[in-house]
Amino acid sequence: MSAAAQVFESFPWFGWLLAFVFGSIVGSFLNVCIYRIPAGKSVVFPGSRCGCGKPIAWYDNIPILSWIILRGKARCCGAPFSGRYPFVEFLTGLLFLLAWVGESIPVALCLWAFFALLVPAIFIDLDHFIIPDRFSVGGMFVGIFLSVLVPELHGFANPGGIATYSGLSTALVGALVGSSVLYWFGALAEIVFRKEALGQGDVKLAGCFGAFCGWQGAVFSLFAGAVIGTVLLLPILIWQRFKGQPASAGASEADEEGDESIGFGTAVPFGPMLCAAIILYVLWLEEPVRAWFDEVGVLLRQLL
Ligand SMILES: [Zn+2]
Repeated sequence: MSAAAQVFESFPWFGWLLAFVFGSIVGSFLNVCIYRIPAGKSVVFPGSRCGCGKPIAWYDNIPILSWIILRGKARCCGAPFSGRYPFVEFLTGLLFLLAWVGESIPVALCLWAFFALLVPAIFIDLDHFIIPDRFSVGGMFVGIFLSVLVPELHGFANPGGIATYSGLSTALVGALVGSSVLYWFGALAEIVFRKEALGQGDVKLAGCFGAFCGWQGAVFSLFAGAVIGTVLLLPILIWQRFKGQPASAGASEADEEGDESIGFGTAVPFGPMLCAAIILYVLWLEEPVRAWFDEVGVLLRQLL
């Protein structure tokens, strides 16, 4: 056991604190990505600026804490800062902490990379109904690379030639099968419902899921994402039906014209639901879901 691992073994709270603080700092950078990448701006330069154009001092840029101390208002001009900034920082910190607590150190580090791709994808999709390729396609390549480096990500514990090959093939099969299943599901749903159900961005995102989590994770995210979306949206849709208002602020004009059909896919982006599902999978549900897929496989073999 390395010296660092020994410290984390003896003082677990030290690792928890480190994971959360590091996650919230990463979250602070992800906030910058969420706002600048869709606008086509550099995420590195210039440094953080207030809406009024004044640079933000480092002591006013501490994740979560600065927002609480300043009560969500800029020090320079008093302009309100969205509560989403500290929320993204807290969420990223929490996800890093949960990965740290639940996994071995190498796997936790891989999941940190995965979460740092998912968080901006979630919020950019909510804002702009797109998932930039650098998160989905770029994330897929990161996932394949990490699967070779840390085959333990896919449960191949013993490092060496065979585990490396197994990690690589699991990631490749995961990426290809994951995105194909979403593509064909979306294509068939479009024929049945005559409405686009899944976007290209969702299909590419599923490739990233498959590379990090195997095809089981990607396929699970499709169905669990639909369940999560229904659970979240049903009360809103019923409420709107009562009030007789259009679907939502994000609804397209076509939706308002065809008033009766409030389309899940058009009014609300599906990417955040897929991401929520894969986070649940990778943190808590991987074992039971894989066991279920294995059981189905055994049953099918008996039937045939
Ligand atoms: Zn200002």
